[in-house]
Amino acid sequence: MPELPEVEITRERIGPALLGRRIEGVHTTKPSYFFLTPPQRLRKRLVGRTVQALERVGKYLVAPLDDGSRLVLHLGMTGQLFVEGVASVRLLSAAGRAALAPEKQGHFSPDAHTHLWISFEDGGPAVIFRDVRKFGKVLWLAPGEKTPRLERLGVDALRAGGADLFAASRTRSAAIKSLLLDQSVIAGVGNIYADEALFLAGLRPTRAARRLSRPQCGTLAAALQQVLRRSIETGGSSISDYVAPDGRDGAYQDERRVYARKGEPCDACGTAIRRIVIGQRSAHFCPRCQA
Ligand SMILES: [Zn+2]
Repeated sequence: MPELPEVEITRERIGPALLGRRIEGVHTTKPSYFFLTPPQRLRKRLVGRTVQALERVGKYLVAPLDDGSRLVLHLGMTGQLFVEGVASVRLLSAAGRAALAPEKQGHFSPDAHTHLWISFEDGGPAVIFRDVRKFGKVLWLAPGEKTPRLERLGVDALRAGGADLFAASRTRSAAIKSLLLDQSVIAGVGNIYADEALFLAGLRPTRAARRLSRPQCGTLAAALQQVLRRSIETGGSSISDYVAPDGRDGAYQDERRVYARKGEPCDACGTAIRRIVIGQRSAHFCPRCQA
């Protein structure tokens, strides 16, 4: 978390708050592994620049700036990118949530987890990047500069077809679930949507990738498209910390068929959903509907 749909929603909703605005100030926390570009350098490079576009590459957000450089953001596990002034209880620590009177819950003010705060010359709302666990990333790229983080990504999950999956899986003895999570094969898929797509395709997550037939790869690619697009449509999955830039919650978590539903009945056949571990990641499936 967050996966492609949540990053895409973040892109769509934070875009208007970034595009065409000249950066006046950049406030950061101390240097840490969160900053792939040291804060001091980041400030120097960003102040005075204007964001020209906001693109999504896999789970990364890439903002080309008016001098040809690029700002790259990754939300990691618990990253929250949002506009100043939004309200969401997800922006508070558990202690903060408990301490606040209900009517005050959701009003955000900068805290120790607010790693990046970008203000603009027009005096409008700032754009804020907060991350409790700091697995998120901020990186500035000089004009023309490349990074393996983007270069090594496979085909974007929203464009991945059966042929892509079939070609990528021929030499892989790994489980199909692990292949779906491999960002160098298909970029953007994480645990939730991999589990949901495998359910929809009727395939067990443990199936050896290279044993899938061409039609099965086609079915799986179509299932992946379906769950990702449906999630974007419903505002993504608001599980744990994910918050959309405008503070609204998504609704896809209510449509999950298998993910994090261990022991609950499959809504297609009533069999209890199982949870197993594949390659140190959990996988959820229906032992009856998925073969
Ligand atoms: Zn079932």
